[in-house]
Amino acid sequence: MTLPALAALACPNCAQPLTQADRRLSCPDGHSFDLAKQGYAPLLAPGSNATTGDTADQVAAREDFLGSGVYDRLTAAVAAASVTDAPGVVIEPGCGTGHYLAAALAADSSREGIGLDTSKYALRRCAKRVIAGDEPRRDAGTHGRLAAVLADAWQRLPVRDGAAAAVLNVFAPRNADEIARVLHPRGALVVLTPRQDHLRELVDALDLLSVDPAKPQRTADQLGTLFEAERTDDISYSIGLGHKEVLQLVGMGPSARHLDADALAAAVAALPERIDVTVSASVTRWRKR
Ligand SMILES: [Zn+2]
Repeated sequence: MTLPALAALACPNCAQPLTQADRRLSCPDGHSFDLAKQGYAPLLAPGSNATTGDTADQVAAREDFLGSGVYDRLTAAVAAASVTDAPGVVIEPGCGTGHYLAAALAADSSREGIGLDTSKYALRRCAKRVIAGDEPRRDAGTHGRLAAVLADAWQRLPVRDGAAAAVLNVFAPRNADEIARVLHPRGALVVLTPRQDHLRELVDALDLLSVDPAKPQRTADQLGTLFEAERTDDISYSIGLGHKEVLQLVGMGPSARHLDADALAAAVAALPERIDVTVSASVTRWRKR
């Protein structure tokens, strides 16, 4: 079996197409890349490094939390916005464990997808992820509709020009020039950004990093020269969380690196047993200009 979405991938060294023999990908110039035992394709651009990705603990927290379903309404909005009539694959730079990408592929059973991340821990899960409605994967990596690729979203992506029908950007940094390069002219860029009141009860109680009020404007400035906003859905609802879910939620977010674990545990222990927390985000669909 070959890696899903192989025709959309490109050599990270020379940008030429890749072919596969057994578990080795190679380009016409002889650059070659062996699929990792855990099923992901290591396609890091020369000079980039993979040490900045999420840790095993962050990945586990994210998988547990997303698996609990409390972000399902955000996930569904991203998936719905990713359906287009453009040819090509769905890609997600900074895909983490592939939760949102798998939902987008479940929404359109004709698509294959490429998840790119710098965290090997996240990619191990992404390479095994089963898309809702699909058959179980018999072999991590080479079976199914979703390819997991080790790549740095800040470098040139190992994806061919115009190969993406949709690009997902979920709670993640974005490289607008590269997204524009890989997106088909009729494709859609789907961006999920937190709104200012996102998780505000926890931000207040636990001194988390809050959403910068200038963020929506910054996003618009960053994307506006290359893309045009087509539609925005603002999604806001309340979830009841216990202490365990609160710790998972903090563990998967940007505050995890800034907080002392003991201080955080003490602060969470002092919360009510169940706390109502606001989930608030915007899903915007952008088209290439
Ligand atoms: Zn090459």
